[in-house]
Amino acid sequence: MPRATTNNPYWLSVSAETFRLAGSALKALAADPANRAAFLSSPLLVETFAPAAHRYVVAPDRKQLALRLTELRAKGYRTGVEYVGEEVADPDEVEAVVAEYLALIDEADDGDDDPVQLGFDLSNVGLLVSRDLAVDNTTRILRAAAAKNISVVISMERSAFVDRIIGVFDELAPHHENVALTVQAHLHRTPDDIDVIAKHGRKIRLVKGVYRERDEVALHRGPELNRRYVELAQDLLGRGVRLALGTHDATLLRLLDEHGTTLRATEIEMLHGSRPQLLKRYRERGIACRVATVYGDNWWLHFLHRLSEYPPNVLTALADLADPRRVRFGSEY
Ligand SMILES: Cc1cc2nc3c(=O)[nH]c(=O)nc-3n(C[C@H](O)[C@H](O)[C@H](O)COP(=O)(O)OP(=O)(O)OC[C@H]3O[C@@H](n4cnc5c(N)ncnc54)[C@H](O)[C@@H]3O)c2cc1C
Repeated sequence: MPRATTNNPYWLSVSAETFRLAGSALKALAADPANRAAFLSSPLLVETFAPAAHRYVVAPDRKQLALRLTELRAKGYRTGVEYVGEEVADPDEVEAVVAEYLALIDEADDGDDDPVQLGFDLSNVGLLVSRDLAVDNTTRILRAAAAKNISVVISMERSAFVDRIIGVFDELAPHHENVALTVQAHLHRTPDDIDVIAKHGRKIRLVKGVYRERDEVALHRGPELNRRYVELAQDLLGRGVRLALGTHDATLLRLLDEHGTTLRATEIEMLHGSRPQLLKRYRERGIACRVATVYGDNWWLHFLHRLSEYPPNVLTALADLADPRRVRFGSEY
């Protein structure tokens, strides 16, 4: 159910079903190719929504990103970075994405004892062209990153990609200590994937899963999914895996607290702009916290996914459009 407060009676009249459908509509909008194409070709859409997207997208380019990361680190957070984008099928565009990650690594400080963590979708670095290209490009990034003690987390994508993503991770993990994988608790298959995923001893980031999937494939949000998340976390920790808890859900985090999981995990990780005050509370308890940032121009999908996760964020976005000064980088961390 939506949270209700005495001074916003509107939310009291919104049913849980309306709430769920609102999230679903935003996810559909995020995934719609025509809308995505319109965003990429229309400066109007970009300019209209940019003031609200800035809450989630920290910088347009690497130079400004570096300043943002310094600010977050000064506040005691670990940092993560993704060059925001979508699935890429054109080999030249793929190479441009890889070049961006290599430039990020090149510009990172040598000898940093808590370096930034990189993350990306394999479909961004070649998986849609060929599996080999994705393996080659990820290897290039992993090798360059290892030289600077930087780790790389592979994201998990929609269910149709999961076999290929786990396959690529399984191939790379024995040779690269700095590779990590994101795992979606909502997929029914995930408990069965754990043997393969955990056997290499690489870090795992556990998330609920952001994509709309059929009932046969995944659980919906709710207590059953939270229970499965906790069980998977316990299982992974029991196998000695370094575990990042990727969630913005206070209820789930309380459940993880009750099981002692937050204390045993390597870190709690949240996307920048999503529940900064909640992450801050965990940091203040002395738990390692990572802020996963994104930067770049291609933020349509990322922005709409953040709104879909908690539809009242649409109101926050509209308020940010009305008064862009509300979005002050780092102020809530
Ligand atoms: C670091 C990181 C990496 C991720 N990588 C991937 C990936 O590779 N693949 C993938 O599929 N997904 C990824 N995700 C997204 C993830 O799957 C979820 O969609 C996302 O974390 C939202 O789920 P949740 O656990 O926060 O809980 P939800 O079930 O989405 O939210 C639970 C409750 O928390 C509250 N809440 C949530 N967000 C807010 C908010 N912004 N403001 C106020 N209240 C809020 C609401 O009460 C909501 O009902 C990643 C998430 C993180 C944090």
